[in-house]
Amino acid sequence: MQTAEFDVVVVGLGAMGAATLYQLAKRGLNVAGIDRFAPPHDQGSSHGDTRITRQAVGEGAAYVPLAIRAQQIWRELEAQVDEPLFEQCGVLVMTSSAAPTGQDGTPDFTANTLALARQFGIEHEALDAAQIRQRFPQFAPIHDSALGCFEPGGGYVRPERCIDAQLTLARQLGATLFTGETVQAIASDQGQVRVTSQGRCITAAKAVVCAGMWSSQLLGAPFDELLRVCRQTLYWYRLAEPAIFPEHSPSFIVHGASDEQHCYGFPPIPGEGSMKIATEQYSQASTPDDLDRQVSAAQSAAMYHDLVRTHIAGVTPELVKSAVCAYTVTPDAHFIIDQHPRLANVTVVSACSGHGFKHSAAIGEALAQQLVDGRSEIDLSAFSLARFAP
Ligand SMILES: Cc1cc2nc3c(=O)[nH]c(=O)nc-3n(C[C@H](O)[C@H](O)[C@H](O)COP(=O)(O)OP(=O)(O)OC[C@H]3O[C@@H](n4cnc5c(N)ncnc54)[C@H](O)[C@@H]3O)c2cc1C
Repeated sequence: MQTAEFDVVVVGLGAMGAATLYQLAKRGLNVAGIDRFAPPHDQGSSHGDTRITRQAVGEGAAYVPLAIRAQQIWRELEAQVDEPLFEQCGVLVMTSSAAPTGQDGTPDFTANTLALARQFGIEHEALDAAQIRQRFPQFAPIHDSALGCFEPGGGYVRPERCIDAQLTLARQLGATLFTGETVQAIASDQGQVRVTSQGRCITAAKAVVCAGMWSSQLLGAPFDELLRVCRQTLYWYRLAEPAIFPEHSPSFIVHGASDEQHCYGFPPIPGEGSMKIATEQYSQASTPDDLDRQVSAAQSAAMYHDLVRTHIAGVTPELVKSAVCAYTVTPDAHFIIDQHPRLANVTVVSACSGHGFKHSAAIGEALAQQLVDGRSEIDLSAFSLARFAP
């Protein structure tokens, strides 16, 4: 067995791990990262070309500083790697339902978004159904009771490129990467953390575990009780010809009366002639091992019939490609970022319940600040495990 010693080891190098590794390496620490695959890859929760980013984060006020800081970091990274990472095309959040409700009985998502935009002084416009149809005719089929929040500073990021950029820079800054190695055990004693894979034992003063949907398998209790893996499907439909869908379109989120009536999507990526649209499901749980990665023709047809044609104009039912991804969801759909309750010097970052990517660069920075300086500029206390204590 090979052994190696570091200041910090990061387990899992997807969205959260790549950001954490980069930020630690940037601060001059001797860091290692380990992943079962070779990130960026399409086996976890960070693939599929695009992720929405917005500052007025309707999920809650605790997220807003993270979203704002992450957008700044994407721009800093772009300058370093000379590649576009963040497309600022705007975001339109809409509630299109006669009876708008949020997930799990929480207040309406668009109303929350508008309230947070006002609270934090984020540039935005509040729109009613007539204004949405006039400004964005691609969403003409919207319900008459629709309520919208357009945030011009939002848009989308390119997840695979973001991960690649941070890992590349981390490596340049001296980080050691072990890929294609699955961590089998994490132990902590006498002020040292031991991370063991098939052929390697890494020891470090501290560890950060960002294992995404594999977190329960790797960490056991209490994470196995708290985290549910929910299969999600991404669809790319061909645009109509001649094009009706405008070239300059925002990313969008449409909230219906139930999870099954939500959908979200992205403007067409130039030259691709298709549009990525997805919905969310929370009713069926999977495990990483039994996740069905096939998308059937029936699924794609149902998605088009139920959500695409009812919300968006200018998109045909022809499926260009599809992908399966997973949300790893906590009971209240908020993040867990905290010390492991039994393993000293081990920090755990949950896979962030389907809305984490936009924050990942700032979460990595905040974790690095905590590990190096003892505290982070952005308060992460809202994401503590204590809220689930019996
Ligand atoms: C379909 C979909 C759409 C989404 N849309 C948005 C969006 O629009 N906006 C947004 O902000 N967020 C969005 N999200 C959420 C966001 O993408 C996730 O919160 C985020 O990518 C999770 O990152 P992660 O690092 O926790 O997980 P991952 O990126 O999956 O990384 C986990 C890593 O850990 C590695 N690993 C696991 N176990 C081990 C082990 N034992 N040993 C070694 N390595 C291991 C894996 O190989 C993997 O690389 C979406 C998610 C999905 C699935």
